[in-house]
Amino acid sequence: MEVPSIKIDEVSGLPDKAKEYLRSSGIEELYPPQVEAVEKGLLEGENMVLAVPTAAGKTLVALMAMLKKTLSGEGKALYLVPLRALASEKYEEFSGLEKLGLKVAVSTGDYDSSDPWLSRYDVIVATNEKADSLLRHRAEWLEEVAVAVTDEVHLIGDASRGPTLEVVLARLRQVNPKAQLIALSATIRNAADIAEWLGAKLVTSSWRPVPLKMGVYHAGRLFFNDGSVVEAPIPKGVDPVVGLATDVVVKGGQALVFNNTRQSSLTYADRVKSHVAKTLSQEDRSTLNELAGQVLSEGEVNRVSQRLAECIRAGVAFHHAGLAPSHRKIVEKAFRSCVLKVVCATPTLAAGVNLPARRVVLQDYRRYDPGLGYGPIPTLEFHQMAGRAGRPQFDEYGEAILVAKSQGELEALFENYVLAPPERIWSKLASEPALRSHVLAFIASSPIVAEQDLASFIQNTFYAYQYGPNTAYPAVKRVLAFLEREGFIASTPTGLVATMLGQRVSQLYIDPLSAVVLREGLAGKPATSPLGYLHLLCSTPDIPKVYLRRGDRKRLEPLLKRHASEMLLPIPDPLEDAYGYEDYLASLKTSLILHDWVEEKPEDSIIEERSVGPGDIYSLSQTARWLAYSAKELCRVLGLQNHLQPLHNLELRLKIGCREELLPLTMLEGIGRVRARLLYNAGYRSPQDLAKASITELTRIPTIGVETAKSILKQLGMLSEKERLP
Ligand code: ADP
Repeated sequence: MEVPSIKIDEVSGLPDKAKEYLRSSGIEELYPPQVEAVEKGLLEGENMVLAVPTAAGKTLVALMAMLKKTLSGEGKALYLVPLRALASEKYEEFSGLEKLGLKVAVSTGDYDSSDPWLSRYDVIVATNEKADSLLRHRAEWLEEVAVAVTDEVHLIGDASRGPTLEVVLARLRQVNPKAQLIALSATIRNAADIAEWLGAKLVTSSWRPVPLKMGVYHAGRLFFNDGSVVEAPIPKGVDPVVGLATDVVVKGGQALVFNNTRQSSLTYADRVKSHVAKTLSQEDRSTLNELAGQVLSEGEVNRVSQRLAECIRAGVAFHHAGLAPSHRKIVEKAFRSCVLKVVCATPTLAAGVNLPARRVVLQDYRRYDPGLGYGPIPTLEFHQMAGRAGRPQFDEYGEAILVAKSQGELEALFENYVLAPPERIWSKLASEPALRSHVLAFIASSPIVAEQDLASFIQNTFYAYQYGPNTAYPAVKRVLAFLEREGFIASTPTGLVATMLGQRVSQLYIDPLSAVVLREGLAGKPATSPLGYLHLLCSTPDIPKVYLRRGDRKRLEPLLKRHASEMLLPIPDPLEDAYGYEDYLASLKTSLILHDWVEEKPEDSIIEERSVGPGDIYSLSQTARWLAYSAKELCRVLGLQNHLQPLHNLELRLKIGCREELLPLTMLEGIGRVRARLLYNAGYRSPQDLAKASITELTRIPTIGVETAKSILKQLGMLSEKERLP
């Protein structure tokens, strides 16, 4: 159905200031899905689900409702995203609203706070996890939310992140039933179910500002879904993926290659490199050299950053979760500004930041899944990747291409991906780890909860909508028994009550089972070494363990023997409990990465010896830091004083990645573990020592420039003393 467009000035219900703001951002008239949303009551406060393709303007729909509510003084706007990187992206996008006098904030970190400062803001961007933790801390300002937007709502079907999103939506509706809900989704088959669940109007559309052609490459030809067949000769001996990426660069476009593993994203970036390098102008080269320099100057130089810099010099980059977050950002920005020509990425990119390209090439439609083996990816995932094709101001159309090795495969790929509709999504709430945490949170959020209230809360979830109102209850019953047995909740004649321990575990935002493991390891035990504590943290389900590989057992066993007396959990007998023993060793292997980190091993040796990426070290150490903090907080509740100081020190060391002696120096801004070590070795052991130094003396230390030296002295209140200046 053709939907006539509407000029932004003619949108009724939108405040004039909002119209002016949108016009000044280049929005003259609404795109068809936006018209439909307005016509279905977006600005009259209707709940709304939008299932439309990427780049079809979903954010603007949300923004119009947010502007309406905030500018007319009805309340705040809360914008929820699944990832921190997306939160920063949206925050930047919305920061222009300050011009309208609206205060914009982003909140992603620290799960143990109700962040009362947020009550001063009008537009708040948060991750789903942060929103969940704010609900647990009963942040009062949540009641002032007049419109809540959830981005990427189809992630409800994701086993690890879906349950939190689902619970946040259900809880928000309960805490604040008057708030307008806007859910933005990729095109999924059962968007109508989500709409019905949320009592929302549904807007579905396949309209895109840049048309998308999906197709399959086979034997020198591209077969597209519109029936067209295009010759695409690829030189002999050149991998078709490389040829397809290079071809679009030669024609002035950019390509995004999706690889199925981190390793293959590196391999393909290397393969494409020499082809793309030939197409670069002198100007391109000098910009790229500068960019490579930027990569090398961000954080510690290691083999990954060196390899990335080398690819970047040739106009190509790889992108995966193992990269340092700062490097990921550099790559994304440079691709968006067309400086980089090809990015080879793992599918995490498709679910993350917005990074369109003229051509998207899927290197392999199969992926290895632990437990399931090597199998084809879901159609929805292909559509997510394909949705990245076509850049609004740059391309006439976008292309998403799969590669077939035979005629049979060509037909299968057409049938299963190009022409197939994406799958339905299904709630994953009934998994026990998810229920453990969310049921406890529900009980802890009120002084007392009648079991009937818990039942009706569960009945309001998407899970109950899909599977029937009582299907989840047997699992809930098992979880209640576990929570009571472990002392997180107590049954009273009038209802369920969270104990002090239960309250704290819910607020700390850790899996209740992690709290059980921590308590088992800490109660009644003497303080131990950092390795002993790290092993305990890595034995909780909140830390993803690294897998054991062949040969690991042989290396780990002697180490375990040497450190057996430092361990806080009993070592399982390998003959009686083979799985438990393997698991114990896997926790040890994981804790060794963290041990290297807090012992100041250079990133590069950790990467080499432990086979991890810089981004893994970062995310693992941040999770472990949170668990060390949580363990400390649990010790307070449980009265285990002897562990408080060691856990506190470990928490700080995990944050910085250093030995204890450097901690005083790292309290200064701009002083990380590398600079702190250089200062320490030069004789500056404390901030007091630094306060006695002059700028000239400080700049003698490698990596300390005049600016850093000044900043150090300024922080110590010493800069005003003229004689310290060179
Ligand atoms: P989505 O969230 O659906 O992926 P976005 O809302 O990010 O898409 O929109 C993609 C791009 O299109 C953005 O740069 C946005 O500013 C632009 N855009 C959205 N709506 C309009 C419109 N009506 N007119 C012009 N540009 C628009």
